[in-house]
Amino acid sequence: MTPGRPSRRRFLRRSFAALGGVVALGRFGRGAEAEQPDAFVVGQKPAIGERGVYLNIPAPLHPLTVHDWDDARWSGYLDTLAAGRINRLYFYLWQGSHSDFACAPEHRDRNRRLHERMRWVIGEARQRGMKVVFLFCPTYIPRVLWQQHRALHADIEYVRAGFPCICPSQPKSWPLMRKVCDHELEWFKDADGFQLCFYDPGGCMCAQCRRDLAAPLLRQVDEFSRIAWQKNPQAEFQVSLWPIWAWESHLNRPYGVELLDRMKAHFGAKHGQIAIADSADHPRSFLGAAKTLGFQTQAFVFSTDVESPFVFLNPQFAYLRRTAARIAAEGHTGAFVHSLLPGSKALGTFVAALALWNPEVPADELARAAALRFTDDPSAARKLVPALLAWESLLLNGNPKPDDAIALRRNVEQALASLSDARRQELEWLPATTRAIEVLVEGTAVPDDALRQKQLAARFRTTLAASPTFKSFAPQAEVVFPHLVRMVDRGWKAAHF
Ligand SMILES: [Zn+2]
Repeated sequence: MTPGRPSRRRFLRRSFAALGGVVALGRFGRGAEAEQPDAFVVGQKPAIGERGVYLNIPAPLHPLTVHDWDDARWSGYLDTLAAGRINRLYFYLWQGSHSDFACAPEHRDRNRRLHERMRWVIGEARQRGMKVVFLFCPTYIPRVLWQQHRALHADIEYVRAGFPCICPSQPKSWPLMRKVCDHELEWFKDADGFQLCFYDPGGCMCAQCRRDLAAPLLRQVDEFSRIAWQKNPQAEFQVSLWPIWAWESHLNRPYGVELLDRMKAHFGAKHGQIAIADSADHPRSFLGAAKTLGFQTQAFVFSTDVESPFVFLNPQFAYLRRTAARIAAEGHTGAFVHSLLPGSKALGTFVAALALWNPEVPADELARAAALRFTDDPSAARKLVPALLAWESLLLNGNPKPDDAIALRRNVEQALASLSDARRQELEWLPATTRAIEVLVEGTAVPDDALRQKQLAARFRTTLAASPTFKSFAPQAEVVFPHLVRMVDRGWKAAHF
């Protein structure tokens, strides 16, 4: 190292200290921005230009999901995203139960409130410098409608798992799909963009659809892009190919590249304005092919286990840094990270946001920024950093040690001990999560002891029931306990889709 020149690490630390300044900005507003050093305010460029969070809105589990959040909770969450320099908010409402079109009578008021809320969120997110993208899946329709049209049911594993999907090769499916999408796109026509998803879940693998797998997908792109642009001519249009690579493997038939080729031919020069979304890290993702063909590309960061109801924070410093670095190196237009349960996982989303901004920032600095953002207390944050790093290790590799889980719980409790009562109440999900993880890890140590498993499952339930954050999940706790124990035992590395 040349004397007088800062080391790379010091440089990164310094540039990140500036980022830390902006992390605080969300709290202090525009006045503080003027006091930031010029080097940061105008100087630093993000590694990835468009950085989004994809809020996937599932069945309600208050306050893990957003359904019943009040203005203050929403504002705090959006402030946190903005402080993480997120500049895009994606959202998806599960149409089977959350549509405002033909929904079940018992869901009507809730769904209307949710639609009104998400319209409000579009405005609030915009005020914080974000563009908003609404995701929709045409073949996945309101359950009440689906039940009235048995002949249209799709032939796909999602349907067998109870999801209301219809077959796009049946002519009578199209008026239904159009009506539902028209209604929903009308609700959110002020969004900055729309993303069409085929399999979230949806799609069909019946004999007719299999004859030409790309055809019904291309027709959806054609029809629904036209509807979207009628609603909002300025809107961006995105198409999610996730996870066609999984279907290709399953069917042993390639059709993803063919779909891209046909989309390009269909749109002509306009295809360059369309973004293709796909997995950020799957080896057979179509992002590379889409980029080569001249589409915009949005990398989907799905840092969860798709099959597991793991409702707990799972910090992913190494994975996020590595993945964000690759997305940046591949030169994609943007990236967006999945978020299903912001009530207990927003800290992980915040870390992801910072990693997308600068993947070279060391893990301990990411942890420090997140700890500071959430505790708003430098001393508590300092203590929380090693706990967050240990937390990642505990869940990543599998075969966790019960003593490590106990230490994690104690360290988190100690880190938060000096905070005000109000702040500790706000962060109660943090120690509650470590208590739940402690029980799961204990479960991994006694896999063959049925009586002990039963006792631990009951303790898992009472642990969750005692937490305001997790009590809505407690009724499912005993049923999912064995599944979660297996996942923790294997490690997230092995469980990641
Ligand atoms: Zn079909």
